[in-house]
Amino acid sequence: MKIELKKLNALQHAVLPFSEVIDLKDEKMYGRNPFQSPVYVEGEVSNESGVLRLKGSIRTVYSTECARCLKPLDIPLEAEADMILSDDPEAEEEDDLFVLTGDSVDPADVLVPALILQVQMTYLCKEDCKGLCPHCGADRNEVDCDCDKKQIDPRFAALRALIDSDEDKST
Ligand SMILES: [Zn+2]
Ligand SMILES: [Zn+2]
Repeated sequence: MKIELKKLNALQHAVLPFSEVIDLKDEKMYGRNPFQSPVYVEGEVSNESGVLRLKGSIRTVYSTECARCLKPLDIPLEAEADMILSDDPEAEEEDDLFVLTGDSVDPADVLVPALILQVQMTYLCKEDCKGLCPHCGADRNEVDCDCDKKQIDPRFAALRALIDSDEDKST
């Protein structure tokens, strides 16, 4: 959605609210398309004594998976932005300054980058997720496979057999 700024520029203290649902399904991050849920954008553009300002928020659900056990995860994401809109092409883009490229502004252009900044590189289903067994692929949160015990160097296998038989005798 484009907001025309010509009218707003002419009206001191005018406020134009915006609210829309945008589609970021094709947006790629870390080789995936994690924005499969609707993305809600809302806020307002105002003219404060000749200075254009865009304040708004953006929220969605980020679809990813646990970095250790690969369980699908839905992470609620939210971001806010409060930016001065500058039509000075010489101006440097800064944290709180958005440089306009024409007579209009698309709130998504301002808010989507703020949302993306909230994304972490990896997520875990829980802090102490035990992950998948590298040998059999079992989810170690759910099953206790005995691969670790089986992965014994064959040179020690004979020794292990001796110990086991000793234990058998002692019991
Ligand atoms: Zn996990
Ligand atoms: Zn295993």
